[in-house]
Amino acid sequence: MKVAIMGAGLSGLACAIRLEQMGVSPTVFEKRSCPGDRFANMEALISVFSRPIRDEIAFLADRYQIYLQPSSNISEFVIRSANEKAVLTGNLGFCNHRGRQEDAWENQLARQVKSKIHFHAEQSYEHLLKEFTHVVVATGDPSYTAAVHNFRTDFTATLKGATVEGEFSRYRVISWLDDRFAPKGYGYLLPFTEKLANIVIAFREGVNDDGLELKEKWALFFDRVCTDLGQDLQVTDQFEVNGYKVGQCRRARVGNTFFTGNCLDSVMPLFGFGQFPAILSGIYAAEDLCGGTPYIEATRAIHASYDNSMVIRKLYERLDTGQKDRLVKMLNGKMGEKLLTTRFDVLKIASRLLRWTGIQ
Ligand SMILES: Cc1cc2nc3c(=O)[nH]c(=O)nc-3n(C[C@H](O)[C@H](O)[C@H](O)COP(=O)(O)OP(=O)(O)OC[C@H]3O[C@@H](n4cnc5c(N)ncnc54)[C@H](O)[C@@H]3O)c2cc1C
Repeated sequence: MKVAIMGAGLSGLACAIRLEQMGVSPTVFEKRSCPGDRFANMEALISVFSRPIRDEIAFLADRYQIYLQPSSNISEFVIRSANEKAVLTGNLGFCNHRGRQEDAWENQLARQVKSKIHFHAEQSYEHLLKEFTHVVVATGDPSYTAAVHNFRTDFTATLKGATVEGEFSRYRVISWLDDRFAPKGYGYLLPFTEKLANIVIAFREGVNDDGLELKEKWALFFDRVCTDLGQDLQVTDQFEVNGYKVGQCRRARVGNTFFTGNCLDSVMPLFGFGQFPAILSGIYAAEDLCGGTPYIEATRAIHASYDNSMVIRKLYERLDTGQKDRLVKMLNGKMGEKLLTTRFDVLKIASRLLRWTGIQ
């Protein structure tokens, strides 16, 4: 068996590590010059979205001997709408580095891979199919999945972010649900350190367009963040992603090709969380390759979670400013904390309820 992994991101590297644990050495191709050679950003795992798993980092270490260090635990989650604020505390999840940093998760995973990773090696799927018996498509961009008619794009999103200097708590993340700068989307702040944070707006493209240019939306967001924090933040770095595809892969495995991470359907339509499912999908592909649970079966839970998340997203998109305010007010305190720390799969229960009542 000759396995090629196309992409040294989260899913490709997790796949490589798991294959090696089972005695298979894959060949990993990465188009960039090193792992995470892109903009630097912070990402988060909000554990309630990974249920029934309560602690993703411990789960990966205990079950698969895949070791990841977050940069901080999230012990406070502040949600702000146009006029309301909810403060939720507890063991809510983790923040982690991505991209060009030493501790970025792609770097941490790459250090656990023994096989050679070929950098500056942008591969075409067709070429790899000729050279290898099995191909894992882990490019983080479902265009490849779409090119073989195996992907349905549900929507595309714009993400604009910046690294800012100021004073932050490493354990507090903030999210803004405000249509003025993130129509049908959200803004967020994730701390890199006590002095640096990542602020981002993410919203669906092409709907409910209010006529504001991206730079105007960004200016509104930036003002709001500075006002809410009571600080004059300084921007030190910026990024912009357009046309970020959110959708579903039709068949997770086609012949001897496995679609993992964003090429499967790891990005949750509700709030864009995709890291943990991406890592799991890489692991599941490796296990199928080594005679374990068939990939299509193993990834059913990821598929179902995507569907559940989409149901809730559709409801979220219908909320106007007043309804968002009421939601945030309701979440403040014990009610929201229970929701974020419950051991139950809130996404599954809520989406079932919405389907059952005919609301969605
Ligand atoms: C700005 C932003 C913020 C996000 N925030 C969060 C968050 O807070 N929490 C969360 O859970 N998720 C978040 N996500 C989503 C998460 O980052 C992805 O779901 C996850 O990284 C997908 O992993 P992957 O393995 O599919 O792709 P990636 O980790 O992106 O890796 C893909 C790799 O393939 C390489 N590649 C591409 N084409 C080729 C080719 N032809 N040949 C060889 N190599 C190739 C790329 O260079 C890259 O290194 C965010 C995404 C973005 C863009």
